[in-house]
Amino acid sequence: MGCYRFFSLLLFVLVSSTEVFSQQGKTLKSNSTRVILAGAMIDVEKGQIVNDVLIVVENGKVVKVDKANANKDYENILDLSEYTILPGLIDCHSHLVLNSYDKSIDQWELPIANYGIMGTLNAKKTLDTGFTTVRDIWGIFYSDVALRDAIDREMIPGPRMYVSGPAITMTGGHGDWESWMAPQLELKQNPAAIADGVDEVKKEVRRHIKQGVDLIKITATGGFGTSGSIPGAATYTEEEIRAAVVEAKKRGLKVAAHAHGADGIKNAIKAGIASIEHGSLMDDEAIELMKKHDVYLVMDLLAAYYSHIELNKDYSDKKLGESNNELYNRFLNNFQKAYKQGVKMAFGSDAGVYPHGRNAEQFNLMVQAGMTEIDAIKSATIAAAELIGIQDKTGSIEEGKWADIIAVKGNPLEDITVLKKVEFVMKEGKVYKSNLK
Ligand SMILES: [Zn+2]
Repeated sequence: MGCYRFFSLLLFVLVSSTEVFSQQGKTLKSNSTRVILAGAMIDVEKGQIVNDVLIVVENGKVVKVDKANANKDYENILDLSEYTILPGLIDCHSHLVLNSYDKSIDQWELPIANYGIMGTLNAKKTLDTGFTTVRDIWGIFYSDVALRDAIDREMIPGPRMYVSGPAITMTGGHGDWESWMAPQLELKQNPAAIADGVDEVKKEVRRHIKQGVDLIKITATGGFGTSGSIPGAATYTEEEIRAAVVEAKKRGLKVAAHAHGADGIKNAIKAGIASIEHGSLMDDEAIELMKKHDVYLVMDLLAAYYSHIELNKDYSDKKLGESNNELYNRFLNNFQKAYKQGVKMAFGSDAGVYPHGRNAEQFNLMVQAGMTEIDAIKSATIAAAELIGIQDKTGSIEEGKWADIIAVKGNPLEDITVLKKVEFVMKEGKVYKSNLK
């Protein structure tokens, strides 16, 4: 090694260590810096638990992930040494502005401001249970857009939202509110976006984009609960759904398809959608297509459990003679089959069909249906982030990503139900909940 090169190397080492030192100095002084000492961390990328971890959070982002004993000089420490930390959870199918489960109020007869008020309360509940991000897919009258913006501006606490506005549905399709009304009556404004044919679908997508949505939701089959619609029957044609996909893609938006029956699922996949919502009545060919086209399955086991088992609403199939119980077991079997076949799955619970804040109960249902604990957690973190398109910003605790960090007692890889009791919630470096002793 020549003298010059040696000198350069020496200089480099000196400069580097000075930088590290001054960075640490800055870290100690900065108010926006927090240091988390965690007893354990779920590494969702590697699929394992790591003990004694130190996380440095600066300006809302994770800037360092290290062993806890590597640095002892930090101040402003959040002591989570008795807890397991995980990335903030993501629910890919929520309805924060809707309380469909609440039959004491007729939601559709209230002034529009009502949805903002319900949304404000539900957003806080959802964040408090550890969900730092939601993909909210059906916010009527664009109240979801307003809620998202209020949260982004920190006017109110809530999860980061990616919103679709009203679902686009055909006349008489799932969510067409006039399906419940006498034919001589009509709504001034339907809570769903009604569109028939390629041109109307395109126009609705354009209108949604004008209103500031982050993705498009389209209904490819009927749905449970919509008068006269049949969950197993297809609604839009492949061509109509493709029109939505093409129009959305021009602006870089993805399309989520509500689909229960196999025919509708196939139409939607062939048309190029990004995710199948529900997927309850899928068949083997639908599963194959999901795999082939790299489509995410967002199966809301919790909403199905709530409606079919807990409430035991009459969703029995008279034609097939299938009871609620049998129907729900069919959903579980299909979930298991799709999982075993290797279909990509993102966590989505259909919050709003059941009371908000119970989202994490779905983890246990997924595990009971045969999913491993780590895969259930991945579905609500890294996989969900990838479906939304924010995997470089959140979904795992990594340097450079947002500091979305939650903490629970115990090890969720051994007992998934510990996720029902989240004790600490940080979103983008800000602590929203802390039960730390
Ligand atoms: Zn839904």
